[in-house]
Amino acid sequence: ILFDTRPKTEKKDFFDREKEIEELKDIIAHRDFAAVLGIRRIGKTSLVRVTLNELSNYMALSINLGKLGNKKSYPMEIFSRIFIEGSVEVLRKNTFAGKVSKIIANRLGIDPTDILELNWVKISIRLREFNTHDVNEVVRALDSISKDNGKYLVIFIDEVQNIKKIRGFDLGSFLHDIYEWCNNTIIVVSGSFVGVTEEILNQVEEEKPFFGRKFFRIKLDRFNEEKSKEFLKAGFTEEGIEVNEKVLEEAIRLFDGIPGWLALFGRSYSYAMKHSHQVDIKIILKEAAKEVSRDFTRFLKLSNSPMRYAETILAISRLGNKGSLSEIRESVNSLFKEEIEDSRLHELLGTLINYGFIIKIGRGKYSLPSDLPTKLGL
Ligand code: ADP
Repeated sequence: ILFDTRPKTEKKDFFDREKEIEELKDIIAHRDFAAVLGIRRIGKTSLVRVTLNELSNYMALSINLGKLGNKKSYPMEIFSRIFIEGSVEVLRKNTFAGKVSKIIANRLGIDPTDILELNWVKISIRLREFNTHDVNEVVRALDSISKDNGKYLVIFIDEVQNIKKIRGFDLGSFLHDIYEWCNNTIIVVSGSFVGVTEEILNQVEEEKPFFGRKFFRIKLDRFNEEKSKEFLKAGFTEEGIEVNEKVLEEAIRLFDGIPGWLALFGRSYSYAMKHSHQVDIKIILKEAAKEVSRDFTRFLKLSNSPMRYAETILAISRLGNKGSLSEIRESVNSLFKEEIEDSRLHELLGTLINYGFIIKIGRGKYSLPSDLPTKLGL
């Protein structure tokens, strides 16, 4: 069902993106590492799940860092917890569970059954003793077990940009250990803040290149208008509902090519039509707006100069949502008394681009993504 609002696992429910599925398959087939990049709700998790579903002969270990909240930093224990949860999930699906749970249990000095049953009371007290090195030991065990079973291991780290928040976890050494010791393991990461994720990957690659292997990037973009329309039409046909052009155009304009929001809109609209309720696009839009402004607030909270970032966005919005560096500077200066220097402004713009709140549109111009102003209530 196209308008299912959970991440997709089957190709028939996943609209378009054939090219990206083929790319990811190709990366996996060559045992390279993959990075799936794109804003929230663009379909990263779905792409990975759908692609894996098309393949066989692998075990998947999922580490979802999207589970972290909006604090600035977390202790290593939180990562270990997410990692152990993910490992136990893989183990439960396989017959060799005992072996690996024993390795984890040994490291923690507890009983293997406590691991398999995820007895957090017992696990938590020992979690402090579990470090990056232990995590790698478990991965090495999983790697060799999967090899013995004629399979390969896929480790999927969702929302990898959050790794920066974990104190004491060293992504570089984690990946290099895998690179060196686990030739049967493939890493797939996804990141919602594209620039931030790129920075993390570049840093890892520069520190100590993976020579043979490399992170191949797959960038998921918004659907263009035509694709958005096709997607909505296909979804409504599947639901057996007729929708007039005006409604389609309105939805396309408001949700600006983000499949997650289009799907939620489609689902709500179909539900309302089938059960003769009133449809209110604004409610869904408000939800979308909440998410974006939550992201923005979170970003401001984590930054050192929240006012400056807010001013910059506001200044661009006052220019009609786009402008050059000097136009933006003037707009900022006219809003506030303190003058801002070009170099500082340039830096602020760079960070905002990294987080996806503004887009560089060429010839020295910057713009807000077209849905951002409504969503931030500008
Ligand atoms: P992300 O991981 O980028 O946040 P998800 O994979 O969780 O995105 O997708 C967000 C929502 O959008 C889900 O409900 C998913 O079903 C839907 N979705 C994303 N891309 C597509 C697509 N190409 N076809 C159908 N539904 C999609």
